[in-house]
Amino acid sequence: MNKVIIIGSGNAGYTAGIYAGRANLDPLILAGEQQGGQLMLTSDVENYPGFPDGVLGPDLMDKFKLQAEKFGAKILTENVTKVNFSTNPFKVFTNDNSYEAHSVIISTGASSKWLGIESESKLKFQSNNLSMINCTFGFAVLKPLIIPLTNFSAGIE
Ligand SMILES: Cc1cc2nc3c(=O)[nH]c(=O)nc-3n(C[C@H](O)[C@H](O)[C@H](O)COP(=O)(O)OP(=O)(O)OC[C@H]3O[C@@H](n4cnc5c(N)ncnc54)[C@H](O)[C@@H]3O)c2cc1C
Repeated sequence: MNKVIIIGSGNAGYTAGIYAGRANLDPLILAGEQQGGQLMLTSDVENYPGFPDGVLGPDLMDKFKLQAEKFGAKILTENVTKVNFSTNPFKVFTNDNSYEAHSVIISTGASSKWLGIESESKLKFQSNNLSMINCTFGFAVLKPLIIPLTNFSAGIE
């Protein structure tokens, strides 16, 4: 039985892991198929406070992961396929396992919609050459929102 299960391992998931870990809740993070989340696909992140010279996305996410683990988060690279929130405790299913928890935090973020063309998969990990986030920033300009921030990325989303 887990006190807290966190689904997703992007900024939000690891941040939840850090806070839950510091609260002695022994969080279990089910990282999903993209451990580290969307920032694993980018190069320079220049808007994260504390890094005046910018930081590479994968390096930043490695630090998030280490920090969550430091406070006791257990991280499994499993993808959640089903949940049952009508039971107590809650049930979370992956391909091969099922888990129970008193609380579940969902931080499954987003993923880019790929066109499926050959050149795209070649350029995927060279983000200087391929834009995957125009819509995100475009939306922010057209329709500003005021929301409580839990991490720096939420401001943009
Ligand atoms: C190329 C690129 C560059 C970017 N650059 C910047 C930048 O410079 N500055 C900035 O502020 N933002 C940037 N962003 C946006 C930023 O990456 C996102 O806002 C941020 O990653 C959102 O974090 P998140 O934790 O909410 O979700 P995500 O990072 O989307 O992570 C989602 C997590 O959920 C997991 N998941 C999904 N489904 C399941 C499931 N069924 N079971 C288990 N786990 C699951 C995934 O494996 C992943 O770990 C960029 C995005 C991209 C794509």
